[in-house]
Amino acid sequence: MRLTVFSAQPYDRDSLEAVARERLAGRDVTLVHQPVALSLSTAILAEGSQAVCVFVNDCLDAAVLEALQGLGVRAVLLRCAGYNNLDLAAARRLGLFVARVPAYSPEAVAEHALALLMTLNRKTHRAYNRVREGNFALDGLLGSTLNGKTVGLVGLGQIGLATARIFHGLGCRVLGHDPQPPAAFAAYGDAVALDALLDEADVISLHCPLLESTRYLIDAVALARMKPGAVLINTSRGALIDTEAVIQALKRRQLGGLAIDVYEQESELFFQDHSHDYIDDDLFVRLMTFPNVLITGHQGFFTAEALREIALVTLGNLADFLDGRACPNAL
Ligand code: NAD
Repeated sequence: MRLTVFSAQPYDRDSLEAVARERLAGRDVTLVHQPVALSLSTAILAEGSQAVCVFVNDCLDAAVLEALQGLGVRAVLLRCAGYNNLDLAAARRLGLFVARVPAYSPEAVAEHALALLMTLNRKTHRAYNRVREGNFALDGLLGSTLNGKTVGLVGLGQIGLATARIFHGLGCRVLGHDPQPPAAFAAYGDAVALDALLDEADVISLHCPLLESTRYLIDAVALARMKPGAVLINTSRGALIDTEAVIQALKRRQLGGLAIDVYEQESELFFQDHSHDYIDDDLFVRLMTFPNVLITGHQGFFTAEALREIALVTLGNLADFLDGRACPNAL
């Protein structure tokens, strides 16, 4: 059988091929790597495949799923945890097997949230460039001590909990908001209502999924509630934040800083080299003009350990499908 891998970057190919040798040994599976993202116009590339493997910015709406099914695809393997890009009801109606990687390395994303905050706060990205130019002046590099500050975590699942452990270890007061806070969180902080978290936190880090109920969770009203100068970190999904409202809050200096690994319109930009082109997204370009905004291109998951775990679980899901076994990661 053939498995077409969409949005396949060289590192995806390397990790999936390496793991295929162990996970799919004895089975006749050929991986076909397509660098393009899955959309209605590229679905045809899956012709002849019984399964496709997709990532965060591939489109899995009803029209795409119908096109895939019409081509003979029976299984959709998400090599990520979030599945807001999937029409699950349509997949069920079409009888498609769909599985994801619910957790591969929550610590990888939690550590990236910390890296973003530390960089933004202590301005090491600016210091790096200055020092290389022989400029050792400290003016403009003033940070604040995180120890003793209040950190608010929205979403206390695997990543939120890993983030809570880190900030607890730094000596921060940790607040968390989750409709179902896990009992384990009590060791690191206090579960509170979202409004209380917005009122009290010096740093807010988002770790909840993108759902209709969480879209623009951070809007103009939420931003106005935050402490003046609070810092916002988003490593979860771009549309948790209303970017226009965030820009206004940055301009008013209500928001003290923003660090994002995700962006609502990221599918047009991320995972591709646009350095020879102009960026056709005025909101994104505006964000990049603020000295207190730090952006990375959805790399929270990107550690060697996480890539291997993603490949192991993804191809394990395929093996379950091929062998007709119950798959614990099926949606
Ligand atoms: P998880 O399912 O373990 O946890 C999500 C938590 O959010 C749950 O505890 C849930 O109860 C809570 N939640 C749901 N609605 C909420 C709301 N309205 N307010 C507050 N909390 C709410 O998921 P996870 O593994 O911790 O991942 C969290 C998110 O991180 C994913 O949905 C994904 O979007 C994102 N992610 C990003 C990267 C990256 O590379 N940047 C990698 C993996 C995951």
